[in-house]
Amino acid sequence: MNNEVREFRCRYCRVHNRVDRIFCVRCRRRLAELTAYDITEDDYVYPPDRDNLAALQGTEPLPSLIGRTITKARERSLRSWLSRKGTRVEPLSEIGISLRRCSEILSLEIIPETFIVASEGANALTFGREENPVLVISSSATEVLDKDEMTAVIGHELAHVKSKHLMYHTLAESLAKGAGIIGQFFGVGLLSTPIQMLLLAWYRESEVSADRASLLTVNDVNTLESLMNKLGRHANREGGASAFESISELFQTHPNLERRLDLIKEFGSSPEFRQARQKVKRRDRVARALIPICRFCGVAKPASKLFCGACGKSQL
Ligand SMILES: [Zn+2]
Ligand SMILES: [Zn+2]
Ligand SMILES: [Zn+2]
Repeated sequence: MNNEVREFRCRYCRVHNRVDRIFCVRCRRRLAELTAYDITEDDYVYPPDRDNLAALQGTEPLPSLIGRTITKARERSLRSWLSRKGTRVEPLSEIGISLRRCSEILSLEIIPETFIVASEGANALTFGREENPVLVISSSATEVLDKDEMTAVIGHELAHVKSKHLMYHTLAESLAKGAGIIGQFFGVGLLSTPIQMLLLAWYRESEVSADRASLLTVNDVNTLESLMNKLGRHANREGGASAFESISELFQTHPNLERRLDLIKEFGSSPEFRQARQKVKRRDRVARALIPICRFCGVAKPASKLFCGACGKSQL
């Protein structure tokens, strides 16, 4: 017992981490590779999202060319906004803990950098590239949402990261807000009308996948229901100078929220949901074994192996 290995190095930044950690304390990246125990997008994806996305990918390379340019420009402007207005979420704060837990459940590659920004509407958004995503939560959301509802919001946003939605999302949002200066400049209007329609149709369905993943993290339909009600009530209707206003996504029109809630309930009572939740529980049970070294002899091992090949000890 006394000889147990207590720390190992992050394969990216080389910092030492405790053996019970899933994400690096410094670079926030996943310390061990993903295993068959981890949640995949298939565990929660809404089929119309997958179908529309496949159709959209069939129209490449133009959407990606434009999308990458817009993503870069938007990341620059949002990062500069955050450097002035954002407060970084501390890892040990209530939100920081929810964030880590949702990242574990959804088996992300990296915990997004996360900020709180003063804003009227209860909202959240994710931007950037999947390798280095940024999550922003409005101060109003932190005031009106309870802990579980906040976890649901975080789960929703992280699902967009897990599902690699960010670039197409940025494109769809530029389109939805009439392209804006950035969009016009970089040519979101260059996309043909059928591609534009497809993009907006996909966007709507991608929200349903994110809601499903959100339910997976909180495991309670009532939490999603109260969240949807609050988002409807606390939407930022007055407008104003908030960056959320133009790129808002979580709170949308009421009929849309109602449709989303119906679909969440449907998923919540499906065998797919039960299976996915079982997967979450199974992963939790073996989590301490899913590290890249043996806890006893320190020899490298595949994360998925529950026994050490060198010393033969069970890692559980
Ligand atoms: Zn690291
Ligand atoms: Zn969303
Ligand atoms: Zn060993």
